[in-house]
Amino acid sequence: MKSESIPITNETVARVADWSTNFSFGGASADGADKLFWQQREEKYQKTDQLFVRLLLLEWAVLVIAALLVRPEKGSAQAGWIDPQLLIAVILGGSVTLPTLAVARLWPGAAITRYVVAAAQMLLSGLLIGLSGGRLVSHFHVFCSLTILSFYRDWRVLVPATMVAAADHFLRGTYWPYLPYGALTTNPWGSVEFCGSVVFQDILLGILCLHRNKEMRDTVVRTALLQEQTERLVASQRVNQLIMDKSRDVICATDPEGRFLTVSAACEALWGYTPEELIGKGWVDIVHPEDREKTRLANVEIMVGHPATNLENRCLRKDGTIVSVLWSAYWSASDSAMFQVARDITQRNEAAAVLKKTNRQLASALQANQLIMDNSQDVICTLDAKGQFLSTNAACQTLWGYHAEELIGRCYLALVCPEDRARSKQVEDSTRKGKITDFVNRCLRKDGSIVEVLWSASWSEADEILFCVAHDATESQRVEKALRDAKDAADRSNRAKSEFLSRISHELRTPLNAILGFGQLLERQNPKPTQRPHLHHIVTAGHHLLKLINEVLDISRVESEKMHLSLEPVCVGVALEEAVDLIQPLATERSVNLFTPSENEKDIFVLADHQRLKQVLINLLNNGVKYTLPHGAVMVSCKQVGERMRLAVHDTGVGIAADKLARVFTPFDRLGAEQSGIEGTGLGLALSQRLVRAMRGTIGVESLEGQGSTFWLELVRAESPLKTTPDRCSAVARPKRGGAVKHRSVLYIEDNLSNLTLIEQLLRESAGVHLLTAMQGRIGLDLARQHSPDLILLDLNLPDMPGWEVLAELQGSEATRRIPTVVVSADATEGQFKRLIDAGARNYITKPIDVTQFYQMMEETASIQEEYVGA
Ligand code: ADP
Repeated sequence: MKSESIPITNETVARVADWSTNFSFGGASADGADKLFWQQREEKYQKTDQLFVRLLLLEWAVLVIAALLVRPEKGSAQAGWIDPQLLIAVILGGSVTLPTLAVARLWPGAAITRYVVAAAQMLLSGLLIGLSGGRLVSHFHVFCSLTILSFYRDWRVLVPATMVAAADHFLRGTYWPYLPYGALTTNPWGSVEFCGSVVFQDILLGILCLHRNKEMRDTVVRTALLQEQTERLVASQRVNQLIMDKSRDVICATDPEGRFLTVSAACEALWGYTPEELIGKGWVDIVHPEDREKTRLANVEIMVGHPATNLENRCLRKDGTIVSVLWSAYWSASDSAMFQVARDITQRNEAAAVLKKTNRQLASALQANQLIMDNSQDVICTLDAKGQFLSTNAACQTLWGYHAEELIGRCYLALVCPEDRARSKQVEDSTRKGKITDFVNRCLRKDGSIVEVLWSASWSEADEILFCVAHDATESQRVEKALRDAKDAADRSNRAKSEFLSRISHELRTPLNAILGFGQLLERQNPKPTQRPHLHHIVTAGHHLLKLINEVLDISRVESEKMHLSLEPVCVGVALEEAVDLIQPLATERSVNLFTPSENEKDIFVLADHQRLKQVLINLLNNGVKYTLPHGAVMVSCKQVGERMRLAVHDTGVGIAADKLARVFTPFDRLGAEQSGIEGTGLGLALSQRLVRAMRGTIGVESLEGQGSTFWLELVRAESPLKTTPDRCSAVARPKRGGAVKHRSVLYIEDNLSNLTLIEQLLRESAGVHLLTAMQGRIGLDLARQHSPDLILLDLNLPDMPGWEVLAELQGSEATRRIPTVVVSADATEGQFKRLIDAGARNYITKPIDVTQFYQMMEETASIQEEYVGA
């Protein structure tokens, strides 16, 4: 049971007020009774006036008839004359009666009419007495007339009537005594006696009039009260009916067993049943089974005398849906009925449930907020439009050393170090323009120490409040600075490492240039058979050293991400053919069969750097040939795997033991091949793996010891660029092999004597080449201008000026711009190569010089020169 009662809404009040104005319950009872009394008396006077008018006319007619009946006999002395009695009856009777007609018509119910009627009535009595010759019986007419006049219930009417009767009696008794007494003499006491009788009757009739008036008044009052009560009852019934018809709540009455006796129309909206369907049914038929017991108990409580109570339960509508209902019930023992009002509170309950949930969420959100505020290490605060603290949490004490109370009302700028205030104000202004800003400034703590604060601020236009979170950034700023310093140091060290590698590379290549160059030169100069193997060792060892240097440099570059790779669609067939071409001599030498895939691969493109892909393939093919016994085979295959192309090099070689496979890509780990006598550095696969990864590919190996190995690499498949460059795959530019170097003059600018001698020796091989040499850049420039050589070979490390400056001056002068310049340098970095080509160098040859490559370059530049001269 709930103590809640159905509230009286504004709507209900308005409706009741409306009904009150529409239904009148009558006036106050006293006023109403008076009004009704006077109304009824008025009606009575008017009716009595009419009655007397008719009575007077009748009496006049009777007088005339009586006068005719008492005419003298025919033949008497008066025969032939109109009987004077008749004349008196007609004329006097008429003159008494007719004025009453006029007065009654003009003033019906008025006092004057009653008085005229009374006088006329009494005059007619006198006339009758006169005509009857004063017979005693005719005097009774006077008493009868007075009695009839009392019908007016107005005792005042008796006054003029009595006065007229008395006057008539005295006058006629005095002057015509035979008229009232039928004798010629009169008894003076007769009139007194008559008048006394009349007055006595008047008194009686007056009392009667007063009494009857009182009776009438009582009756009227009772009638008025009754009428008023009836009106109230009718109005009340109409109100009740309207309430029943219009109320949105169901109003109903049930018998002690809970059966509906009456139910208002709203039941159809609430339960889906019409009133007719419900009457006779019990509440048990509509209440939800689970709520029936509590409903029954509530009903019993009310019936045993508990005050009217409210009950909430669930009811089942006709369509089976559930509706929540609030019942207000009252038990009337006298009517033996329970009067109830039932209201649909489904929506209210739902809204209450939502509200409850929202309140719960709000409460937990508030609690969470409070927890955050209380436990946050950061200051969470709000500032007003002037930047003054409105609120702040306790963390302000840790951050700035101030209690929250000390800060409220103060401007935050007072905490900021003077030199940071202008910038802080600037950031604050931009935050107000809608940008959520994070910035760091320095603040002064209460103890004077400086703390670096990271502010996150957001401006609320609606509240005109700046919401801020202030975080102690001293440590993070320190760490950030340390990281920056560490990175700078790492960058510096990286640069130093690169410079070191470049330097070492240069320093190692320069002597190698002499070793390899002269070694190759001697090999070409028909050495004695005993010298040939020695020379071969020199050249092979030189190449081994060079390979080692190159691979170390490459690995270092890939790892420091310094290696420049130009990833583009590369024709697999071309890269493979170029690699095979280079390996084929070794395969032939070792009697290993080399099988390449069919022509189809010529149409397959992968995303790669052409040179680096070739380098990887050469390494895999080289290993395949190296680690395969004579008459074994090395096969290359190519197939598509998803979006990628898989290139694999299979060999029937020695294979790799399963326990060593995991180390196969480890730099310098030769897996025991050192003892095999097969040359190697242990860097080839390590470099290949890094290069393939740099080309967004993968590399792997499958091997069985004694049976052979398969090294594979997968690269992203690319669209063929043939549509734009149709000859890219088929017509690969190939260096021409062999052929003689055409006659020309060559200027070599180089400060290293052994290098100069080597080039001199190499060019001596080519008949007709005239070599000019300069050991300083400036001299070289002068020679170039004076002799306009066909080719300039330029070293980069010159004593007087750097080689790139010499190149720039050559390119800047009209006289020397067209002379092809080939850089010959030990600095083999890719960046250097690109820079010099961009600056105008025709080609770039790295030291140590590969003799074959040198001749090739000479041949190419000669043909270009010819084209140029021919053009
Ligand atoms: P290396 O210069 O020694 O060949 P690599 O890095 O190319 O260096 O190879 C690392 C080692 O892996 C080799 O020393 C060799 O032991 C093994 N290896 C590489 N390729 C093969 C192969 N095709 N068959 C057997 N062993 C191989």
